[in-house]
Amino acid sequence: MVEVYKFQCRATDAFRDDIHKLDNVIRKRIDKVISEVLFENPYNSKRVSAREHKGKRIVRVGDYRLVFAICEECRRFGFNALIKCKDCKKHGSNNVILFSVSHRSISYRGF
Ligand SMILES: [Zn+2]
Repeated sequence: MVEVYKFQCRATDAFRDDIHKLDNVIRKRIDKVISEVLFENPYNSKRVSAREHKGKRIVRVGDYRLVFAICEECRRFGFNALIKCKDCKKHGSNNVILFSVSHRSISYRGF
């Protein structure tokens, strides 16, 4: 079976570092959310309201928060400078950039 995804996800180095620190159970749950939500409809998520993270979106996976951005929005709202979506112009509008995964005990204002 060939899987055709509407969106293409790109992981930042920070995201890869975060994932490697997690145990397999939560990692699998995150993989599932990435394939079910982020590849299908990343707009079905919450926008981050904190000024320093404006432009990013989050999905909750148990006690973890997955922080990402959709490049179409980066460009439409001029987010790319703000959220440091590196090489945004080279990415397609259907690209999703995965920034980080963090436990909810690590608080970010406005999340
Ligand atoms: Zn972007």
